[in-house]
Amino acid sequence: MLLYIHVPFCRSKCRYCAFASGPFSTEAMHCYVHLLIREMIFWKERIAPRQIETIYFGGGTPSLVAAADLARILDAIFSLFDVHSDAEITLEGNPESANDPAYLQALYSLGVNRLSLGVQSLNPRHLAMLGRIHSPEQAIQTVTRAREAGFQNISLDCIWGIPGQRPDDWFKQIEQFTALHPEHLSCYGLSVEPGTPLERDVDQRLLILPTQDDQARMFLEGTALLTSYGYHQYEISNYALKGYQSQHNSGYWEGREYLGLGPSAVSTVDHKRWQNPLTLTAYETAVHQKTLDGHPQELDPTDLRNEHIMLSLRTSKGLDLRAYEQTYGIPFLGTYQNLIEALHQNNLAHIKEGSLCLTPQGMLVSNSIIADFMDTPTSSKTQ
Ligand code: SF4
Repeated sequence: MLLYIHVPFCRSKCRYCAFASGPFSTEAMHCYVHLLIREMIFWKERIAPRQIETIYFGGGTPSLVAAADLARILDAIFSLFDVHSDAEITLEGNPESANDPAYLQALYSLGVNRLSLGVQSLNPRHLAMLGRIHSPEQAIQTVTRAREAGFQNISLDCIWGIPGQRPDDWFKQIEQFTALHPEHLSCYGLSVEPGTPLERDVDQRLLILPTQDDQARMFLEGTALLTSYGYHQYEISNYALKGYQSQHNSGYWEGREYLGLGPSAVSTVDHKRWQNPLTLTAYETAVHQKTLDGHPQELDPTDLRNEHIMLSLRTSKGLDLRAYEQTYGIPFLGTYQNLIEALHQNNLAHIKEGSLCLTPQGMLVSNSIIADFMDTPTSSKTQ
């Protein structure tokens, strides 16, 4: 099982962000850690005897959790749950709060063995446009200090498709990111989320996004560039040196069970899915009233099958045709024959070693391809 811990605080709100996070204070964080531990106690018996294979602190800004509080959380996890001795333990950090050498050393000593840094860009103009509060120098220094603290598995989050960015700017960014020698890179196309200041500026044409053609070049040529540096694209937005794929995220894409702690966190256990209350206040009430398992959604076979298709097609391994048939008792190729032929003819997907995989061009339009698989009723897919 995968364990996700949401940290719902940030120093300030980035202009593109629609994640669940509120303003940080030491006191609020301290109370929150207490709630998290109570939530763990709530789940202890309910998820036994599952073993935790990965632990992931995401947010928000997990690097705002003080070392002493992180020690309390990890102590609780290890004493309440059965944790695999080689568990991957990732903490997301932002350069402005994960920059202190003593803090980084404390994280490492506490057993955090993977650091995922929200660098986003090494261009000061782009960082300002995104509303990030760190500088490129701080980001570079944080990577150096993390190495000095002992981290041998560092991932950088990077954003492409920023207003005003040209393909060559992105390729230059890739050169700068790879010069820091991270083991892993997550490269996301900037998404304009409803209700964000970024959306308002784009709507008012104060900011102009790169053209579709430029975005396609950033994705396709950027991937080729990263590949030339030894980073294998193992999922649409994720690239890793050999042996450094994120075990936690790979677990999601493989359809493993996961428990999410904290407000807005989603869990999937025993073919049931639920989401914790979205706000901190509602979450606090649910923890106190022990109503966190209130309304789970039963995942029916169609949901599970659709999700399997969607998650597999995002990965470079693709969808294992034999495993699909064994799991659901229906042949994938026979069911989706016309769709697959059309994808193949348009160089959007191919069959490789018994799996259906999207080509780079297919990954570029993966959302619409996946929607095609979801939209067509199963009974009419071969007609
Ligand atoms: S640091 Fe991350 S979670 Fe926090 S506001 Fe920025 S993008 Fe959102």
